[in-house]
Amino acid sequence: MNRARLIVMNSALGPLDYRVPQGMNVEPGSVVVAPLGPRQLIGVVWERERLPAGEVGDNRLRNLLHVYDIPPIAAPLRRLVEWTADYYLSPLAAVLRMALPSSGALEGARSVTEYRATGQVPDRLTPQRAQALERIGERQGLVSELAILGGVSDGVIRGLVKGGAIEAVEVRIDDPYPAPDPDHAPPALDETQADAAAELREAVDAREFAPWLLDGVTGSGKTEVYFEAIAEAIRRGRQTLVLLPEIALTEPFLKRFAARFGCEPVAWHSGLRQSQRRRAWRAIASGEARVTVGARSALFLPYRDLGLIVVDEAHEASFKQEDGVQYHARDVAVMRAKLEEIPVILASATPAIETRHMAEIGTYKELKLPARYGGARLPDMAALDLLQDPPERGRWLAPKLVDALEQNLANGEQSLLFLNRRGYAPLTLCRRCGYRFQCPNCTAWMVEHRFTRRLACHHCGHMMPAPETCPECKEEDALVACGPGVERIADEVALLFPDARTAIVTSDTIWSPVKAAEFVARMEAGEIDIVIGTQLVTKGYHFPNLTLVGVVDADLGLAGGDLRAAERTFQQIQQVSGRAGRGDKHGRVLVQTHDPNAAVLRALVSGDAEGFYAAETEARRLAAMPPFGRLAAIIVSSENQAEANEVARMIGRAAPAHENMAVFGPAPAPLAMLRGRHRFRLLVHAHRAVPVQDIIRDWLGGLHWKNSTRVTVDVDPYSFL
Ligand code: ADP
Ligand code: ZN
Repeated sequence: MNRARLIVMNSALGPLDYRVPQGMNVEPGSVVVAPLGPRQLIGVVWERERLPAGEVGDNRLRNLLHVYDIPPIAAPLRRLVEWTADYYLSPLAAVLRMALPSSGALEGARSVTEYRATGQVPDRLTPQRAQALERIGERQGLVSELAILGGVSDGVIRGLVKGGAIEAVEVRIDDPYPAPDPDHAPPALDETQADAAAELREAVDAREFAPWLLDGVTGSGKTEVYFEAIAEAIRRGRQTLVLLPEIALTEPFLKRFAARFGCEPVAWHSGLRQSQRRRAWRAIASGEARVTVGARSALFLPYRDLGLIVVDEAHEASFKQEDGVQYHARDVAVMRAKLEEIPVILASATPAIETRHMAEIGTYKELKLPARYGGARLPDMAALDLLQDPPERGRWLAPKLVDALEQNLANGEQSLLFLNRRGYAPLTLCRRCGYRFQCPNCTAWMVEHRFTRRLACHHCGHMMPAPETCPECKEEDALVACGPGVERIADEVALLFPDARTAIVTSDTIWSPVKAAEFVARMEAGEIDIVIGTQLVTKGYHFPNLTLVGVVDADLGLAGGDLRAAERTFQQIQQVSGRAGRGDKHGRVLVQTHDPNAAVLRALVSGDAEGFYAAETEARRLAAMPPFGRLAAIIVSSENQAEANEVARMIGRAAPAHENMAVFGPAPAPLAMLRGRHRFRLLVHAHRAVPVQDIIRDWLGGLHWKNSTRVTVDVDPYSFL
């Protein structure tokens, strides 16, 4: 009899066995539909011997219902799913889900019906309808997608369709993608670039696992160099995956790619419409998608013949997924390359200490591009001591920075002010009674957003209208905003330079690739004089007329004091200064700080990256911190504080004694409450060689707690909140 063992798309269930009915053919990797009670579930056939499960008698097996007509999930990806689940202590189904599309793409419908506005005003324009039409604008999508965009119910959209304000359009989802041409417009590489490109081309040809660190200063042409490796993969008929840390970077990347290869690559990110997702997924699985660029979720897609992976801005912490399967896309990318037996390129101007270490010990090969392309010089950097030369009262920009902005305006050049804080002010308090606005669900202050006239929690999204009176003492006009966010800096700029044209760039204003493209177009057209932005503007962009960068508060990132605080500050300031002076004009960077003697600032100003990294690395070595030791965090959370505390303590008491491993805590997490759940943390610190995952699996596997308590394990944590 023919049986199949499945991983089904339900994390609560283990492997399940089914009978394969006569006439149905399945193999490991086949995507199937299986019955479960009265329901049907999608599952993937797996090798029996790799999925131990209780034996079920033949007579008790139910028949599989259907096999999808798509290529089976290939063995290297199956192994990657296993590795990821194992390493990050996650259910196989949760990892496997990232490889599968929505059921729509599985069915393979050839077209779908989408909707878009016709421009006609409906007879009855209710406020809801008006809002929906305004928010939808020129976008197109399923009824449900437009309803979400418009912030209304499906019914409102259907009403608009009836009234003629929205019309149906047929979208073919299997239209072929254009094929990029490797020889469309190759640049003339300089000598260093050409040498690096030659090595990478060879690596693509060799078809074997090889991790590369492409370490080049900002503007050195890293992108041009790895484009040559992509060109080679295209010539060989193999697929490439390029991972970017933010979807906001996708749009400029698509343009640049099109200029080099004659057409855009396939994009994969959370902003895609369903029809676009289906089309992309099918093209990736069939091999037709030659080059895919995406956010970290693109990592688990079933490429038919992957030949190369590029991780751009590989040092970025946003490659670490912080919920669900808490994987690090950079590390999983290297593992995928290993399993697929292909090269992987990690490109960065400020590689993470973990990555540099791998290059130092020879595990990764390193390519260096030490100078900017075309003789552009790196910008000059100076620290502005806020104690010596403070801003005026109630202001945040020091006189020297204001002068520099003024000069730049007079010269018709663009400036960028960097402050990694959204909104107007991070804290609102009552001058009279001292009341502070705190999120009811989180251990966090409510952040004022003046444009939307609201206070918002940046952790859970809780919002309230901006208050006029203190809720505690009822005093009017006593509320004051403390500290600056980007909106407040924008206000200050408007006060100082009423004629300057400014733009705020944060995830509030640039929330889609389209918005990012609009911003880029306005910058390029010279329609913006001063940009005020968060980390969103620190990477990727290339604006030749941008010559001044002001870092409003260099101390901000050091405040938290976690393992990577100094490193992250260094990377961020280095990245943002990399935006200055990328063209013919020389750039300069002014960094405001209260502590110009901090090691990280001295290193930045003197340009001594090597010295800084050496000291940081040594400190990590002495403390046996990553990459010299291992960390894992165990987070226990519940709506009931006593219950969370109890479970955390039980876990603490059961901690196994192990040589070269220490368990700290439990203690209330720094974010002691998040989204209404009380949180306790334990931190496991171990020697490199200790099999931490196995130990934690055994340890937690023997304990029980109520479903209302959640226990998650964060292996190699990046957030210490
Ligand atoms: P990085 O990715 O290292 O920051 P880029 O690849 O973005 O650097 O290069 C910086 C700028 O210099 C880009 O506008 C790029 O097109 C240009 N550039 C780099 N190398 C060359 C080259 N060999 N020929 C022409 N332009 C180049
Ligand atoms: Zn909150």
